[in-house]
Amino acid sequence: MRDVVYVRAQNLTQALGALRERTNPMLLAGGTNVVDYIRTGALVADTLIDISHLPLRDVRVDQRGLTMGALARMSDVASHGSVKKAFPVVSQALELSASAQLRNMATIGGNLMQRTRCAYFREAGFACNKRRPGSGCAAREGSNRFHAILGGSEHCVATHASDLAVALMALDALVHLESAGGRRQVPLREFYRLPGQTPQIETVLQTGEMLVNVTCTKVPGATRSHYLKIRGRASFEFALVSVAAVIDAPQGIITSARIAFGGVGTVPWRDTDAEKALVGCAIADADVLRNAAKSALRGAESLRENGFKVELGRRALVRAVRTAGGDQ
Ligand SMILES: Cc1cc2nc3c(=O)[nH]c(=O)nc-3n(C[C@H](O)[C@H](O)[C@H](O)COP(=O)(O)OP(=O)(O)OC[C@H]3O[C@@H](n4cnc5c(N)ncnc54)[C@H](O)[C@@H]3O)c2cc1C
Repeated sequence: MRDVVYVRAQNLTQALGALRERTNPMLLAGGTNVVDYIRTGALVADTLIDISHLPLRDVRVDQRGLTMGALARMSDVASHGSVKKAFPVVSQALELSASAQLRNMATIGGNLMQRTRCAYFREAGFACNKRRPGSGCAAREGSNRFHAILGGSEHCVATHASDLAVALMALDALVHLESAGGRRQVPLREFYRLPGQTPQIETVLQTGEMLVNVTCTKVPGATRSHYLKIRGRASFEFALVSVAAVIDAPQGIITSARIAFGGVGTVPWRDTDAEKALVGCAIADADVLRNAAKSALRGAESLRENGFKVELGRRALVRAVRTAGGDQ
Protein backbone atom coordinates (compact mmCIF):
# COMPACT_ATOMS: atom_id res chain seq x y z
CA MET A 1 0.00 0.00 0.00
CA ARG A 2 1.32 3.42 -0.95
CA ASP A 3 0.19 6.70 0.61
CA VAL A 4 -1.09 9.35 -1.77
CA VAL A 5 -1.76 12.96 -0.78
CA TYR A 6 -5.11 14.26 -2.03
CA VAL A 7 -5.37 17.97 -2.87
CA ARG A 8 -8.68 19.51 -3.92
CA ALA A 9 -7.85 22.57 -5.99
CA GLN A 10 -10.32 25.42 -5.41
CA ASN A 11 -9.40 27.26 -8.60
CA LEU A 12 -7.09 27.03 -11.60
CA THR A 13 -4.30 29.02 -9.89
CA GLN A 14 -4.28 26.56 -6.99
CA ALA A 15 -4.24 23.60 -9.35
CA LEU A 16 -1.31 25.00 -11.35
CA GLY A 17 0.54 25.94 -8.13
CA ALA A 18 0.12 22.41 -6.76
CA LEU A 19 1.25 20.93 -10.08
CA ARG A 20 4.45 22.96 -9.86
CA GLU A 21 5.17 22.50 -6.16
CA ARG A 22 4.06 18.99 -5.23
CA THR A 23 6.20 15.88 -5.57
CA ASN A 24 5.22 13.52 -8.37
CA PRO A 25 1.78 15.08 -8.90
CA MET A 26 -1.03 13.74 -11.05
CA LEU A 27 -4.23 15.49 -12.06
CA LEU A 28 -7.52 13.82 -11.23
CA ALA A 29 -10.41 14.84 -13.51
CA GLY A 30 -13.19 12.23 -13.92
CA GLY A 31 -10.83 9.65 -12.38
CA THR A 32 -11.98 6.80 -14.65
CA ASN A 33 -8.46 6.18 -15.95
CA VAL A 34 -6.43 7.39 -12.96
CA VAL A 35 -8.19 5.33 -10.31
CA ASP A 36 -8.25 2.21 -12.49
CA TYR A 37 -4.53 2.44 -13.29
CA ILE A 38 -3.36 3.40 -9.81
CA ARG A 39 -5.11 0.22 -8.63
CA THR A 40 -3.34 -1.95 -11.21
CA GLY A 41 0.01 -0.29 -10.47
CA ALA A 42 0.33 1.12 -13.98
CA LEU A 43 0.29 4.70 -12.65
CA VAL A 44 2.14 5.92 -9.60
CA ALA A 45 1.58 9.33 -7.98
CA ASP A 46 2.53 10.91 -4.65
CA THR A 47 -0.08 13.66 -4.93
CA LEU A 48 -3.45 13.60 -6.66
CA ILE A 49 -4.70 17.08 -7.56
CA ASP A 50 -8.47 16.98 -7.92
CA ILE A 51 -9.52 19.44 -10.63
CA SER A 52 -12.93 17.90 -11.29
CA HIS A 53 -14.99 20.86 -10.08
CA LEU A 54 -12.99 23.71 -11.71
CA PRO A 55 -15.03 25.87 -14.10
CA LEU A 56 -13.60 24.43 -17.32
CA ARG A 57 -16.78 22.79 -18.61
CA ASP A 58 -17.83 25.21 -21.30
CA VAL A 59 -18.93 23.69 -24.62
CA ARG A 60 -19.54 26.24 -27.35
CA VAL A 61 -20.09 26.31 -31.09
CA ASP A 62 -19.94 29.75 -32.71
CA GLN A 63 -18.72 31.36 -35.95
CA ARG A 64 -15.13 30.48 -35.09
CA GLY A 65 -15.86 26.83 -34.44
CA LEU A 66 -15.92 24.51 -31.43
CA THR A 67 -14.52 25.16 -27.94
CA MET A 68 -14.56 22.44 -25.30
CA GLY A 69 -13.36 23.02 -21.75
CA ALA A 70 -10.98 20.34 -20.49
CA LEU A 71 -13.47 19.36 -17.79
CA ALA A 72 -16.54 19.12 -20.02
CA ARG A 73 -18.01 15.65 -19.59
CA MET A 74 -17.84 13.33 -22.57
CA SER A 75 -21.60 12.77 -22.38
CA ASP A 76 -22.36 16.52 -22.35
CA VAL A 77 -20.29 17.12 -25.48
CA ALA A 78 -21.67 14.03 -27.23
CA SER A 79 -25.28 15.12 -26.71
CA HIS A 80 -24.72 18.84 -27.35
CA GLY A 81 -27.11 19.86 -30.16
CA SER A 82 -24.74 22.29 -31.89
CA VAL A 83 -21.83 19.85 -31.72
CA LYS A 84 -23.97 17.14 -33.32
CA LYS A 85 -24.92 19.54 -36.10
CA ALA A 86 -21.61 21.29 -36.78
CA PHE A 87 -19.12 18.55 -35.83
CA PRO A 88 -20.88 15.15 -35.96
CA VAL A 89 -17.52 13.35 -36.05
CA VAL A 90 -16.82 14.61 -32.51
CA SER A 91 -20.21 13.65 -31.18
CA GLN A 92 -20.07 10.19 -32.83
CA ALA A 93 -16.54 9.45 -31.60
CA LEU A 94 -17.65 10.23 -28.05
CA GLU A 95 -20.91 8.26 -28.31
CA LEU A 96 -18.93 5.22 -29.43
CA SER A 97 -16.46 5.49 -26.52
CA ALA A 98 -16.57 3.48 -23.29
CA SER A 99 -20.04 3.22 -21.69
CA ALA A 100 -22.78 5.67 -20.71
CA GLN A 101 -21.69 5.54 -17.06
CA LEU A 102 -18.06 6.25 -17.92
CA ARG A 103 -18.99 9.06 -20.31
CA ASN A 104 -21.00 10.71 -17.53
CA MET A 105 -17.86 10.91 -15.36
CA ALA A 106 -15.02 11.19 -17.85
CA THR A 107 -13.81 14.51 -19.22
CA ILE A 108 -12.48 15.79 -22.54
CA GLY A 109 -9.02 16.53 -21.10
CA GLY A 110 -8.85 13.18 -19.34
CA ASN A 111 -9.89 11.39 -22.51
CA LEU A 112 -7.13 13.01 -24.56
CA MET A 113 -4.59 12.31 -21.81
CA GLN A 114 -5.67 8.75 -20.99
CA ARG A 115 -2.96 6.12 -21.01
CA THR A 116 -2.87 3.17 -23.37
CA ARG A 117 -4.96 0.02 -22.83
CA CYS A 118 -2.02 -2.23 -23.73
CA ALA A 119 -2.44 -5.19 -21.37
CA TYR A 120 1.30 -5.28 -20.70
CA PHE A 121 1.22 -1.64 -19.56
CA ARG A 122 -1.82 -2.17 -17.33
CA GLU A 123 -0.55 -5.19 -15.48
CA ALA A 124 2.53 -4.81 -13.32
CA GLY A 125 4.74 -7.90 -13.71
CA PHE A 126 5.20 -7.69 -17.49
CA ALA A 127 8.07 -5.98 -19.24
CA CYS A 128 6.86 -2.56 -20.38
CA ASN A 129 9.07 0.37 -21.32
CA LYS A 130 6.19 2.77 -20.88
CA ARG A 131 5.59 1.70 -17.27
CA ARG A 132 9.20 0.85 -16.36
CA PRO A 133 11.68 2.37 -18.86
CA GLY A 134 14.38 -0.11 -19.86
CA SER A 135 12.36 -3.21 -18.89
CA GLY A 136 11.51 -4.20 -22.49
CA CYS A 137 8.29 -4.57 -24.50
CA ALA A 138 6.39 -7.81 -23.88
CA ALA A 139 3.87 -6.95 -26.60
CA ARG A 140 6.29 -7.24 -29.50
CA GLU A 141 6.50 -11.01 -29.11
CA GLY A 142 3.37 -11.45 -27.03
CA SER A 143 -0.32 -11.14 -27.70
CA ASN A 144 -0.45 -8.20 -30.09
CA ARG A 145 -3.74 -8.32 -31.98
CA PHE A 146 -4.67 -4.90 -30.57
CA HIS A 147 -1.31 -3.26 -31.09
CA ALA A 148 0.01 -0.63 -33.46
CA ILE A 149 1.03 -1.14 -37.07
CA LEU A 150 2.19 2.47 -37.45
CA GLY A 151 4.49 4.66 -35.39
CA GLY A 152 5.89 1.85 -33.24
CA SER A 153 9.49 1.35 -32.19
CA GLU A 154 11.40 -1.59 -30.80
CA HIS A 155 10.60 -0.09 -27.38
CA CYS A 156 6.82 0.20 -27.70
CA VAL A 157 3.91 -0.75 -29.98
CA ALA A 158 1.00 0.27 -27.77
CA THR A 159 -1.90 1.96 -29.55
CA HIS A 160 -3.35 5.27 -28.48
CA ALA A 161 -6.76 4.61 -26.93
CA SER A 162 -8.78 7.79 -27.41
CA ASP A 163 -11.53 7.89 -30.05
CA LEU A 164 -12.06 11.60 -29.54
CA ALA A 165 -8.40 12.30 -30.36
CA VAL A 166 -8.86 10.64 -33.76
CA ALA A 167 -11.84 12.86 -34.60
CA LEU A 168 -10.01 15.96 -33.41
CA MET A 169 -6.92 15.02 -35.38
CA ALA A 170 -8.99 15.07 -38.58
CA LEU A 171 -10.37 18.49 -37.64
CA ASP A 172 -6.92 20.05 -37.07
CA ALA A 173 -7.80 20.80 -33.44
CA LEU A 174 -5.67 22.93 -31.14
CA VAL A 175 -5.05 22.10 -27.50
CA HIS A 176 -4.66 25.03 -25.12
CA LEU A 177 -2.23 24.46 -22.27
CA GLU A 178 -1.64 26.48 -19.15
CA SER A 179 1.01 26.52 -16.43
CA ALA A 180 1.88 28.93 -13.64
CA GLY A 181 4.17 30.57 -16.22
CA GLY A 182 1.49 31.29 -18.84
CA ARG A 183 -0.53 29.84 -21.72
CA ARG A 184 0.32 28.31 -25.07
CA GLN A 185 -1.51 26.44 -27.79
CA VAL A 186 -0.31 23.38 -29.68
CA PRO A 187 -1.82 21.72 -32.78
CA LEU A 188 -3.06 18.28 -31.75
CA ARG A 189 -0.95 16.87 -34.59
CA GLU A 190 2.15 18.00 -32.67
CA PHE A 191 0.83 17.18 -29.21
CA TYR A 192 1.35 13.40 -29.16
CA ARG A 193 4.87 11.99 -29.36
CA LEU A 194 5.89 8.80 -31.12
CA PRO A 195 7.40 6.33 -28.64
CA GLY A 196 10.91 6.16 -30.15
CA GLN A 197 13.33 5.41 -27.32
CA THR A 198 11.21 7.14 -24.66
CA PRO A 199 7.71 5.63 -24.80
CA GLN A 200 7.00 6.83 -21.26
CA ILE A 201 6.82 10.42 -22.61
CA GLU A 202 3.56 10.53 -24.57
CA THR A 203 2.89 14.22 -25.18
CA VAL A 204 4.69 17.55 -25.38
CA LEU A 205 2.99 18.64 -22.13
CA GLN A 206 5.69 20.09 -19.87
CA THR A 207 6.00 19.60 -16.12
CA GLY A 208 3.55 21.98 -14.43
CA GLU A 209 1.29 22.32 -17.47
CA MET A 210 -2.30 21.20 -17.87
CA LEU A 211 -4.78 21.15 -20.70
CA VAL A 212 -7.47 23.83 -20.25
CA ASN A 213 -9.44 23.62 -23.46
CA VAL A 214 -9.58 22.33 -27.01
CA THR A 215 -10.71 24.22 -30.11
CA CYS A 216 -11.32 23.49 -33.76
CA THR A 217 -12.50 25.62 -36.63
CA LYS A 218 -15.27 24.89 -39.13
CA VAL A 219 -13.23 23.15 -41.82
CA PRO A 220 -14.94 22.24 -45.14
CA GLY A 221 -17.06 19.12 -44.74
CA ALA A 222 -17.22 19.31 -40.93
CA THR A 223 -21.01 19.35 -40.83
CA ARG A 224 -21.18 15.95 -42.57
CA SER A 225 -18.10 14.43 -41.00
CA HIS A 226 -18.28 10.81 -39.87
CA TYR A 227 -16.63 8.49 -37.33
CA LEU A 228 -16.60 4.77 -38.04
CA LYS A 229 -15.41 2.44 -35.30
CA ILE A 230 -14.76 -1.27 -35.83
CA ARG A 231 -14.44 -3.29 -32.61
CA GLY A 232 -14.84 -6.78 -31.25
CA ARG A 233 -18.28 -6.07 -29.73
CA ALA A 234 -20.82 -3.33 -30.20
CA SER A 235 -20.22 -1.34 -27.02
CA PHE A 236 -17.81 -0.85 -24.14
CA GLU A 237 -14.85 -1.75 -26.32
CA PHE A 238 -11.83 0.01 -27.81
CA ALA A 239 -11.31 0.27 -31.57
CA LEU A 240 -9.56 -2.42 -33.57
CA VAL A 241 -9.62 0.17 -36.32
CA SER A 242 -11.48 3.48 -36.54
CA VAL A 243 -11.69 6.21 -39.15
CA ALA A 244 -12.57 9.88 -38.84
CA ALA A 245 -13.51 11.26 -42.24
CA VAL A 246 -14.11 14.93 -43.00
CA ILE A 247 -14.94 15.12 -46.68
CA ASP A 248 -15.99 18.01 -48.89
CA ALA A 249 -17.57 16.71 -52.07
CA PRO A 250 -19.74 19.26 -53.82
CA GLN A 251 -21.28 17.71 -56.96
CA GLY A 252 -20.09 14.28 -55.78
CA ILE A 253 -16.38 14.88 -56.40
CA ILE A 254 -14.05 15.08 -53.42
CA THR A 255 -12.38 18.49 -53.25
CA SER A 256 -10.89 18.11 -49.78
CA ALA A 257 -10.38 15.18 -47.43
CA ARG A 258 -9.21 15.05 -43.85
CA ILE A 259 -8.63 11.50 -42.65
CA ALA A 260 -7.42 10.11 -39.33
CA PHE A 261 -7.21 6.51 -38.12
CA GLY A 262 -7.55 5.08 -34.62
CA GLY A 263 -6.53 1.64 -33.38
CA VAL A 264 -3.60 1.43 -35.78
CA GLY A 265 -1.04 3.93 -34.49
CA THR A 266 0.95 4.60 -31.37
CA VAL A 267 -0.61 8.06 -31.73
CA PRO A 268 -3.91 9.03 -33.41
CA TRP A 269 -2.91 8.72 -37.05
CA ARG A 270 -3.54 11.49 -39.58
CA ASP A 271 -3.16 9.97 -43.04
CA THR A 272 -2.14 12.60 -45.59
CA ASP A 273 -1.33 9.98 -48.26
CA ALA A 274 -4.93 8.79 -48.18
CA GLU A 275 -6.16 12.39 -48.25
CA LYS A 276 -4.17 13.20 -51.40
CA ALA A 277 -5.34 10.03 -53.13
CA LEU A 278 -8.99 10.77 -52.33
CA VAL A 279 -9.07 14.29 -53.78
CA GLY A 280 -10.68 14.18 -57.23
CA CYS A 281 -12.43 10.85 -56.62
CA ALA A 282 -16.16 10.46 -57.28
CA ILE A 283 -17.98 9.53 -54.08
CA ALA A 284 -20.36 7.25 -55.98
CA ASP A 285 -17.59 5.20 -57.58
CA ALA A 286 -16.69 2.44 -55.12
CA ASP A 287 -13.90 1.05 -57.33
CA VAL A 288 -12.20 4.42 -57.54
CA LEU A 289 -12.45 4.86 -53.77
CA ARG A 290 -11.12 1.36 -53.13
CA ASN A 291 -8.19 2.12 -55.36
CA ALA A 292 -7.49 5.41 -53.56
CA ALA A 293 -7.71 3.60 -50.21
CA LYS A 294 -4.64 1.54 -51.18
CA SER A 295 -2.62 4.66 -50.39
CA ALA A 296 -3.83 4.59 -46.78
CA LEU A 297 -1.74 3.27 -43.88
CA ARG A 298 1.45 3.50 -45.92
CA GLY A 299 4.48 2.18 -44.06
CA ALA A 300 2.42 -0.16 -41.85
CA GLU A 301 4.52 -2.80 -40.09
CA SER A 302 2.43 -5.56 -38.67
CA LEU A 303 3.25 -7.84 -35.77
CA ARG A 304 2.36 -11.53 -35.59
CA GLU A 305 -1.34 -11.08 -34.83
CA ASN A 306 -2.36 -7.73 -36.27
CA GLY A 307 -1.67 -7.84 -40.02
CA PHE A 308 -5.44 -7.82 -40.65
CA LYS A 309 -5.58 -4.15 -39.63
CA VAL A 310 -4.22 -2.95 -42.97
CA GLU A 311 -7.05 -4.39 -45.08
CA LEU A 312 -9.63 -3.68 -42.39
CA GLY A 313 -8.46 -0.08 -42.18
CA ARG A 314 -8.68 0.46 -45.95
CA ARG A 315 -12.16 -1.04 -46.15
CA ALA A 316 -13.28 1.05 -43.18
CA LEU A 317 -11.88 4.12 -44.91
CA VAL A 318 -14.03 3.55 -48.01
CA ARG A 319 -17.15 3.13 -45.88
CA ALA A 320 -16.45 6.21 -43.78
CA VAL A 321 -15.68 8.37 -46.83
CA ARG A 322 -18.86 7.31 -48.62
CA THR A 323 -20.94 8.11 -45.54
CA ALA A 324 -19.28 11.47 -44.97
CA GLY A 325 -19.29 12.52 -48.61
CA GLY A 326 -22.64 11.18 -49.76
CA ASP A 327 -25.56 13.36 -50.95
CA GLN A 328 -23.80 16.73 -50.67
C1 LIG B 1 -13.99 -0.18 -19.58
C2 LIG B 1 -13.52 1.07 -20.27
C3 LIG B 1 -13.78 1.24 -21.63
C4 LIG B 1 -13.34 2.39 -22.28
N1 LIG B 1 -13.57 2.54 -23.61
C5 LIG B 1 -13.11 3.65 -24.25
C6 LIG B 1 -13.31 3.82 -25.64
O1 LIG B 1 -13.91 2.99 -26.31
N2 LIG B 1 -12.83 4.96 -26.21
C7 LIG B 1 -12.17 5.92 -25.51
O2 LIG B 1 -11.76 6.94 -26.07
N3 LIG B 1 -11.94 5.76 -24.19
C8 LIG B 1 -12.41 4.68 -23.55
N4 LIG B 1 -12.19 4.52 -22.22
C9 LIG B 1 -11.34 5.46 -21.54
C10 LIG B 1 -12.14 6.59 -20.92
O3 LIG B 1 -12.71 7.33 -21.95
C11 LIG B 1 -11.14 7.38 -20.11
O4 LIG B 1 -10.92 6.65 -18.92
C12 LIG B 1 -11.64 8.76 -19.78
O5 LIG B 1 -11.88 9.50 -20.93
C13 LIG B 1 -10.63 9.51 -18.92
O6 LIG B 1 -11.21 10.73 -18.54
P1 LIG B 1 -11.21 11.15 -17.00
O7 LIG B 1 -11.76 12.53 -16.94
O8 LIG B 1 -11.85 10.14 -16.15
O9 LIG B 1 -9.64 11.20 -16.77
P2 LIG B 1 -8.79 10.86 -15.47
O10 LIG B 1 -8.84 9.41 -15.18
O11 LIG B 1 -9.15 11.79 -14.38
O12 LIG B 1 -7.36 11.27 -16.05
C14 LIG B 1 -6.75 10.54 -17.11
C15 LIG B 1 -5.33 11.08 -17.34
O13 LIG B 1 -5.40 12.40 -17.83
C16 LIG B 1 -4.72 13.32 -16.97
N5 LIG B 1 -5.51 14.54 -17.02
C17 LIG B 1 -6.83 14.66 -16.74
N6 LIG B 1 -7.25 15.91 -17.00
C18 LIG B 1 -6.17 16.59 -17.45
C19 LIG B 1 -5.95 17.94 -17.90
N7 LIG B 1 -6.94 18.83 -17.92
N8 LIG B 1 -4.71 18.30 -18.29
C20 LIG B 1 -3.69 17.39 -18.28
N9 LIG B 1 -3.83 16.12 -17.87
C21 LIG B 1 -5.06 15.73 -17.47
C22 LIG B 1 -4.69 12.63 -15.62
O14 LIG B 1 -3.64 13.08 -14.80
C23 LIG B 1 -4.52 11.18 -16.05
O15 LIG B 1 -3.17 10.93 -16.37
C24 LIG B 1 -12.65 3.39 -21.54
C25 LIG B 1 -12.41 3.24 -20.18
C26 LIG B 1 -12.84 2.10 -19.54
C27 LIG B 1 -12.56 1.95 -18.07
